[in-house]
Amino acid sequence: MDYYSSEINRLIEELTALPGIGAKSAQRLAFHIISMPEENVDRLADSMKSARKNVRYCRECFTLTDDELCPICRSKSRNHRVIMVVETTRDLAAYEKTGKYEGVYHVLHGAISPMLGVGPADIRLKELMKRLEKDVDEVIIATNNSLEGETTAMYISRLIKPSGIKVTRIASGVPVGGDLEYIDEVTLLRALEGRVEL
Ligand code: ZN
Repeated sequence: MDYYSSEINRLIEELTALPGIGAKSAQRLAFHIISMPEENVDRLADSMKSARKNVRYCRECFTLTDDELCPICRSKSRNHRVIMVVETTRDLAAYEKTGKYEGVYHVLHGAISPMLGVGPADIRLKELMKRLEKDVDEVIIATNNSLEGETTAMYISRLIKPSGIKVTRIASGVPVGGDLEYIDEVTLLRALEGRVEL
């Protein structure tokens, strides 16, 4: 038996489909939303629609951006011959917050995980290799220190090595399995400065 109107059920269902939102949170959010002033709901819905419509992947590094090229790829003051490979746009943001990295990035949008059935073709690896056809001095692999991150780092290093481009891996000291975005800036900087050649 349905306790709620079908409209509320529909809203709860949509919210439950979001990551990290369980049935209880979805219910709470749904009731909150229907008690909000209509104009606030419109604003929320509009911001979701507009973000979904206008945010896209940078043509070069595949981070999320409003333009064809992200501000980092467009910048003339960045060193375009050094590419840091990260798993997510959130990791990129973590390194940008340190304000000390002058190269550019490449966002994979995931990591290789045989267990979850994520293979090399499922992340932006082909696109990275394509970028390496231009003049690149160094590729810094800054994937997470998890099993998936390490697997991905090994795979990429083996792929790039024959080209003669220098491949480095950020130093460990970053907690095992730790997501980069939760690590403080000092630790990130130390990991970057202590990177080792693979
Ligand atoms: Zn970019």
